[in-house]
Amino acid sequence: MILGVDPSGECDLAVIGAGIVGLALARELQRRHPDIDLRVLEKEEEVGAHQTSHNSGVIHAGIYYAPGSLKARLCVDGARLLYEYCEQHGIRAVASGKVIVATSDRELPALDELERRARINGVPGLRRVGPGGLRELEPHCAGVAALHSPRTGIVDFADVARSLAAELAREGAAIAPGCPVTRAQPARRRLVLSTPKGEVRAKHAIFCAGLWADRLALACGGDPDPRIVPFRGAYLRLRPDRRDLVRSLIYPVPDARLPFLGAHLSRDPHGQVLVGPTARLVARRDAYGRHVQVRWRDVAQTVAWAGTWRMAARFWRTGIEEMRMAARPAALVESASRFVPELRREDTVPGPAGVRAQAIARNGALLEDFTFSETERALHVRNAPSPAATSSLAIARLVADRAEASFGLPPRVH
Ligand SMILES: Cc1cc2nc3c(=O)[nH]c(=O)nc-3n(C[C@H](O)[C@H](O)[C@H](O)COP(=O)(O)OP(=O)(O)OC[C@H]3O[C@@H](n4cnc5c(N)ncnc54)[C@H](O)[C@@H]3O)c2cc1C
Repeated sequence: MILGVDPSGECDLAVIGAGIVGLALARELQRRHPDIDLRVLEKEEEVGAHQTSHNSGVIHAGIYYAPGSLKARLCVDGARLLYEYCEQHGIRAVASGKVIVATSDRELPALDELERRARINGVPGLRRVGPGGLRELEPHCAGVAALHSPRTGIVDFADVARSLAAELAREGAAIAPGCPVTRAQPARRRLVLSTPKGEVRAKHAIFCAGLWADRLALACGGDPDPRIVPFRGAYLRLRPDRRDLVRSLIYPVPDARLPFLGAHLSRDPHGQVLVGPTARLVARRDAYGRHVQVRWRDVAQTVAWAGTWRMAARFWRTGIEEMRMAARPAALVESASRFVPELRREDTVPGPAGVRAQAIARNGALLEDFTFSETERALHVRNAPSPAATSSLAIARLVADRAEASFGLPPRVH
């Protein structure tokens, strides 16, 4: 792997951010255009250090998303491409299946709606099961009805990111870790990217910066709307002797007003069972630790954004419930025990956490779909929360198509 290279100087294309989206995109562009000089600039010392390695590890099948949306299309395509990729590269990806459980008749209309969406979206193998069918799939789970998605699966997305980086480097792309882009300035048919390792003068750039996407778009002269507002998701872990409560993936029927799927139980590729995540607004974009962490610049930006207050006004009730779950593990367990009644607080120990890069519009709406924007000589991935890890290889194709059209890249090599 060409790591630690000096990235400064001129290049054709810079991809900023070596998360799973940036790496998948860089790989796609390099495969299409093997002759371009491509550099990937990453602020951390390793690839995939943020959302890519702090998530549930679920390969989503495309159930939840509004038919016709980018999420619906790119998740279904992305899951298929991801299974193929993992198979080709010896990465463990298991289609272990998932159930979405209605625990009362009141949740049945929402379950019906999920089923309708999933069928239109082309989710493979989906079927409806009753309480008996549910018990056959998940013996410790209770509900009045469920959807079973056999092609939902699990993978370690950080493994995928490392594999993409290794492949890229083998093909000659330069990946520069420890290289945060601090400024971006168009100048003489180039975009000048300032980094502590010197200036990178790229003909074009594509920003895939996750939690920092809005800042870099703004630095390039882009629209301040939407802004990223960080939502921390904390997990509990089941104690090893209680892992048999869960065979695979058990999800609730989500709150349709929010782009989060609700606290679930998931068995990860390493055999651990997670309970969570919560969804709580935090005062730092990389708030992975258990204790309250504050970065004043992050707080100032969240507080100054009108959309934050409009969202808070709309969702204050949900916010209070989420804060209760985030503050008291017992409340999170209580919520999950609606569908796994044997689950007790003493079955769990503290687990990991991630921070979602969720974009919020000025009017307070949480952006539902993947969102992209353009500035002079640059494209920006502005909103790529879940299921963007699942969808990464399909997002890469879409953004590569846009880059070819916008940047006038030389004709494809097949
Ligand atoms: C709790 C949680 C659970 C989730 N569960 C799932 C799931 O089960 N399935 C699923 O498909 N998705 C899930 N997601 C979403 C998924 O993890 C993300 O959508 C995906 O990882 C986004 O990838 P990314 O490359 O855009 O962002 P990231 O992985 O965050 O990468 C962005 C990169 O940009 C770099 N960067 C930022 N600023 C700069 C700069 N100035 N200069 C250079 N580099 C910079 C960062 O260091 C980082 O490496 C979950 C997310 C969370 C937080």
